[in-house]
Amino acid sequence: MQVPLSHVCIHSITTKPWNIEQCVHHYSREGFGGISVWRNTLENRNIQDTGKMIRDHGLEITSLVRGGFFPSVSLEKRQKSIDDNRKAIDEAAALGAPLIVLVCGADPGQSLEMSRGQIKDSIEALIPYALASNVKLAIEPLHPVYAGDRSAINTMKQANDMALDLDSPVVGVAVDVYHVWWDPDLEYEIKRCGNINKLFAYHICDWKTGLSDVLNDRGLMGEGCINIKQITEWVRKTGFSGMEEIEIFSNLYWSMDQNEYLNKIKSSYLNLYK
Ligand code: ZN
Repeated sequence: MQVPLSHVCIHSITTKPWNIEQCVHHYSREGFGGISVWRNTLENRNIQDTGKMIRDHGLEITSLVRGGFFPSVSLEKRQKSIDDNRKAIDEAAALGAPLIVLVCGADPGQSLEMSRGQIKDSIEALIPYALASNVKLAIEPLHPVYAGDRSAINTMKQANDMALDLDSPVVGVAVDVYHVWWDPDLEYEIKRCGNINKLFAYHICDWKTGLSDVLNDRGLMGEGCINIKQITEWVRKTGFSGMEEIEIFSNLYWSMDQNEYLNKIKSSYLNLYK
């Protein structure tokens, strides 16, 4: 079950205090094989040169994070979000990232159904641009605790259904254990996602009980209650052969020495599948 570290990727947000050059230097030095680049790290950088710098360090660019945030009660804001997502597609193409992770969004001023409709329409509007740029879009269902304002797509079933409805080879699903581990239909929906060829990305971290912050208190693998091993098995069974992506937001870990933290990440990953 254990894949070599060369098949493991880290999201740059995981070591938020580091700039992109530091992330790349340290991830590659520790033997990780990939990086998912958060857009904030590209500010004031030449994006093509940054892509080359990453590849020159032997790292694969797994994805650009993140696009989405489509729904709004304001038509103007919805249009702005489409424009921003087009810009994200340009950035991914320049960087050499094959995929953008979509945090789809929700507006508390309207129903979830309304938000879902707007998400679908917005992704549909982006498909020709994504196809022309050869960049894939992965719908990431978010835990229902975020349904108020971060995502109206909260289950794998919803993500699978939407990806199927949109019916484009560039639209698929990102499975993040943090968001979907609780779902009684998870095994079935992961299998289904594989059967419809929509499983584009796989993110891991852990859910600590007694969270101090639902957004920024994620745990290292093995620190919480998610059966990551089991979920990984379901994901692998579909034939998914992509990177395992470590993505942790944590005020606690961001406040410590990032080199020490990276060592913790490495050992928690290596212990996971023992
Ligand atoms: Zn994720």
